Amino acid sequence: MWQLHNRRAFWDTSAGQQILTLDLIFRKISDAQRIFVGRAAQRGVELSCPPDCGACCHGFMPDVLPVEADYIAFFLLINQNNPGDGPEGHFSLLSPSTPASPSPCPFYAADRPGANCRIYEARPLICRLFGFSGTKTKNGGTAYRLCRHMPTPRGFPGRSPTQEALQRAIGTLPPLMSDFSIGILAIDPSRASERKPLVEALPPALARISATLHYCPEEPNAA
Ligand code: SF4
Repeated sequence: MWQLHNRRAFWDTSAGQQILTLDLIFRKISDAQRIFVGRAAQRGVELSCPPDCGACCHGFMPDVLPVEADYIAFFLLINQNNPGDGPEGHFSLLSPSTPASPSPCPFYAADRPGANCRIYEARPLICRLFGFSGTKTKNGGTAYRLCRHMPTPRGFPGRSPTQEALQRAIGTLPPLMSDFSIGILAIDPSRASERKPLVEALPPALARISATLHYCPEEPNAA
């Protein structure tokens, strides 16, 4: 998705480098989830969201760091299909009154069961770790909790299993949200305190990435 060979100059920019680093972290999350779900399946535990669910997006607005907003902005800009789909078109998506977006998240499409997220490939960290992730507790321990919308799978050790119980039942542990969160904060520590609701973070990101792409023109003869 991100291999824009005819925009190689973009990947040499600071924004391009940060997007690539975030992409690597997102791939690691996918790998960790795949391993956990795969190990569970080997032991007869079927872990998956209910079909056509999307309930975790209802009434939810993700908070994102600037680099996550840049990633989404880049995704939107390179996937625009209509000549009129510039940053202005994407700004209109962010209107809370957009009819297709009854929830606070402007990218939730209730009318597309099974494909409710219109930016699924570019969704932020918080949206990637619903369901199968652990969090650090205040006392330094780790807590695991199944998504409340997910029925308890047969063979799964309860809705809030301990690390030991999970390890016994599945043979491995799901990804820890805090580990990945620290990795994303480290991409640009100077903006680590600028976490904002997606709807606020995206307009400046669209302007930023659009301007950067403008100065990284397509190379017609590039492979
Ligand atoms: S970005 Fe996608 S997954 Fe995250 S809340 Fe919005 S619609 Fe849901």
